[in-house]
Amino acid sequence: MQKTNLQFSEPLSAAFQAALSHLSNLDSSPVAATATVGELRKRLSRPLPQEGAPPAQVVRELAASVQGGLLGSTSGGFFGWVIGGSLPAALAADWLSSAWDQNAVLYATSPAAAVVEEIVGGWLKDILGLPASASFALTSGCQMAHMTCLAAARHYLLGHCGWDVEAQGLSGVPRIRILASGQQHGSIQRAVRLLGLGRSQIKTLPTDLVGRVRPEVLERELAGGAASPTIVTLQAGDSSTGACEDFETLIPMAKTRGAWVHVDGAFGLWAAASPKYKHLVKGVEQADSWTTDGHKWLNVPFDCGYAFVAHPEAHRASMCYSAPYFTLNIEARDQMDWTPEWSRRARGFPTYAALRQLGRDGVA
Ligand SMILES: *Cc1c(COP(=O)(O)O)cnc(C)c1O
Repeated sequence: MQKTNLQFSEPLSAAFQAALSHLSNLDSSPVAATATVGELRKRLSRPLPQEGAPPAQVVRELAASVQGGLLGSTSGGFFGWVIGGSLPAALAADWLSSAWDQNAVLYATSPAAAVVEEIVGGWLKDILGLPASASFALTSGCQMAHMTCLAAARHYLLGHCGWDVEAQGLSGVPRIRILASGQQHGSIQRAVRLLGLGRSQIKTLPTDLVGRVRPEVLERELAGGAASPTIVTLQAGDSSTGACEDFETLIPMAKTRGAWVHVDGAFGLWAAASPKYKHLVKGVEQADSWTTDGHKWLNVPFDCGYAFVAHPEAHRASMCYSAPYFTLNIEARDQMDWTPEWSRRARGFPTYAALRQLGRDGVA
């Protein structure tokens, strides 16, 4: 074996053994953490060493020290929060993403990662019933997917007021009002804050008992501020009840008034992939932007969300950048034109593997 192989084989074998042991004991281990914060600190904290340690020892000690501090969140017995597991093919592809250590920023920094993302984007739109013409981005999660979509919305709406927000910024800008479901996930508010739109511009809409926005409430609010550029945020899958909005009624209502409709479908958008449940999200494809997660219901390891935008030019305008040292490839897709990150993990590989392992039937 070559020297480099030897350097890696011991720590990787140690990781492989630790991973198999974790996964095969899931069903018999407690779902909750059993170690206290004090125990974990005692085991893990030590003075930052002056001298390094052998890699395999580092890995073995790490795996031993975290025992009791890991949740059994990928086991069948976990019912806290909306958290996913890992499909075998997705987990293995995730390991390879680290081993290959590609920078999935441009086609030039990893042609394979760029092409895989291109394909994954197409598959996801197909399986979720979204317009084939929509643009997309693979992000770290739904939070950053909201940021991506709402940045596109900001560009689009302010552009229609004659304002170039990327160039001119937000001072003196017409206010954008945000009409949001009263049950909206907190990540919407955080995206609004980070984009400088202001939390106080969010008007929360009261919902019915299962968490759906009432059409008459939306209609009244839309009519009340018709002159302001408006974003309406709706949910496919309420965090507490799983309920989906009446998209068929709400989306055309908002679009008639010129609003941008954004759908948080972190887990619920996947209903669209199921012949049995797709009626729950009927009409959702008429929205302007959508987000969902790979690391929840698709069971891709963490660090995987998806953003889709019905107006590719607005999406691209809000994210793209060009530097003299880029090797522009007009034939290929540079991920950075669509994502908020610069250097980034090649997170297309695990999604590609998950979709291939499951196929359409498996996702359904
Ligand atoms: C989990 C979740 C989010 C946030 O997604 P992250 O992937 O954790 O960033 C947003 N909305 C809903 C409904 C969620 O369940």
